[in-house]
Amino acid sequence: MNSFDEMNLLPDLLKAIKDLEFEKPMPVQAAVIPHLLKDDSGDMIVLAQTGTGKTAAYGLPLLQKINTNNRKTQLLILCPTRELCIQVADDITSYGIYMKKVKVAAIFGGASIERQIKILQSGAQVICATPGRLLDLLRRKETDLSTITNLVLDEADEMLKMGFREELEAIMSETPLEKNILLFSATMPDDVWQISKRYLKKPLEITIGEKNIGADGIIHHCYMVQAKDRYLALKRIVDYYPDIYGIVFCRTKKETQEVADHLMRDEYDAEPLHGDLSQAQREHVMQKFRNKHLSLLVATDVAARGLDVDDLTHIINYNLPDEAEIYTHRSGRTGRAGKKGISIIISIFKDKKKISEIERNIKKSIEIKKIFTGREICERQLFSMIDKMITTEINEKEINPFLDIIYKKLEWFERDEVIKKFVSIQFNRFLEYYKNAPDLNVSEYNRDKKGGAVKYSRFFINLGTIDKITPPELIGLINDLTEKKHITIGKIDIKRNFSFFEADHKYRDDILNSIEDAYFEDRKIVIELSNERQHGKVEKDSKRRTFHRKR
Ligand code: ADP
Ligand code: MG
Repeated sequence: MNSFDEMNLLPDLLKAIKDLEFEKPMPVQAAVIPHLLKDDSGDMIVLAQTGTGKTAAYGLPLLQKINTNNRKTQLLILCPTRELCIQVADDITSYGIYMKKVKVAAIFGGASIERQIKILQSGAQVICATPGRLLDLLRRKETDLSTITNLVLDEADEMLKMGFREELEAIMSETPLEKNILLFSATMPDDVWQISKRYLKKPLEITIGEKNIGADGIIHHCYMVQAKDRYLALKRIVDYYPDIYGIVFCRTKKETQEVADHLMRDEYDAEPLHGDLSQAQREHVMQKFRNKHLSLLVATDVAARGLDVDDLTHIINYNLPDEAEIYTHRSGRTGRAGKKGISIIISIFKDKKKISEIERNIKKSIEIKKIFTGREICERQLFSMIDKMITTEINEKEINPFLDIIYKKLEWFERDEVIKKFVSIQFNRFLEYYKNAPDLNVSEYNRDKKGGAVKYSRFFINLGTIDKITPPELIGLINDLTEKKHITIGKIDIKRNFSFFEADHKYRDDILNSIEDAYFEDRKIVIELSNERQHGKVEKDSKRRTFHRKR
């Protein structure tokens, strides 16, 4: 099935899918969703690698099956770790965001059990839980699984690897016999096989291979920038992945040292590794990296040879090597031990041929991605911070003696204010840095969401430096004018009294029509196609829209 629209999903779910910008179902979703939507879908085993979209594959159809007039727990999702539990609960919440009566509870260890009990008491139809904490709550009789109709074992292989077999069996014994069990796993080791043989009734088996991940678990991304923007692009990539643990590959010792120096200056946990360092220095850096006291190692190919670390999250090619085989070698350092890894290329226009050569060598396609915007990065950092806060354990004994004073000092603030202040401590740095962050993408390479090259139309706008307009503000203005269609913008050329900008030609008319009765501060906005200036548009003053400078 090639589109979500054909799947008989509820309009509320389709709306949420639109918000999430899922364009079409991933293969596992195309296979699983229609099946799970059937009345008697039965038990199921789905084998698919990490990152193939399993959460939505079960989340969407099972949400649809929730009886929202009933507050009883109907869907239980078990996950191996609290991070995954939070992530899945968060994903399910986003899918169900328009289903007003659906409530999702995340139940995991390391957080207040009282609060979780309160949430359960208020009636959640979906429980997303780690086995340990759920069992704890079951034993305290704080939750009731007797009304479950679907049980999802997400990442079943991981759950068993972590030794949750007994907990799983204890939990399953509390659920009714006539439920469906849906087992999702990346691999099918013996213990998963045994569980499925013992508990699943004639399961339907679905195995999905995903072309861009493949057996090695590596995804390849490429960002196209101008040579002068390489470092800025690197910074954005690193900021977008708050938990990055990876190697940045450079071509020369000099470049390695420079990039590392820049990163250190910008307060990243990074150090260089290259042949100009003494043996002792190299050993020291490698040790720090192995112990994860460094999150980024900036290295030449030769110097990185002696390093054996197998849980890297990212490989970044700051500069591509001359030979495609070396790229394969570099990227092979991530995605090990069944984990997902991302190999990133920061590339300039003239690398185009090299990239095709690499694609042939790795036998996969490299996805051309757009450099993250400041907003995307801020959002990502913020949520990562909040997730970390949620899972942070509280050391009651150590913290208690200070609480009196802390409460006194905070007494004057509302709860909202306290939260905002705590978030700002960490977050202001990013907001400040990315406030006016320009678009670093090279426009020849800008692609639309389907991966095709964008065709641009060139526009004239009657605002320029005299109106104090900057490229990010111009992009923001177009976005506001067109009511958030997020149109791809290409080159921007700001002059004194006016400017030119390129925008996806598909939206030509949206842009031209958007300026009716629109004002920027006191100026009536004029936008025209730059090669066909037309004059004498009808002026109407009925529903004037005024846009203001954002600062
Ligand atoms: P898995 O559980 O298989 O490891 P996830 O369900 O976590 O994978 O999905 C991996 C990523 O893919 C998530 O970031 C998710 O938001 C995204 N994703 C899921 N379905 C789609 C889709 N149809 N189109 C685009 N992105 C998707
Ligand atoms: Mg998953």
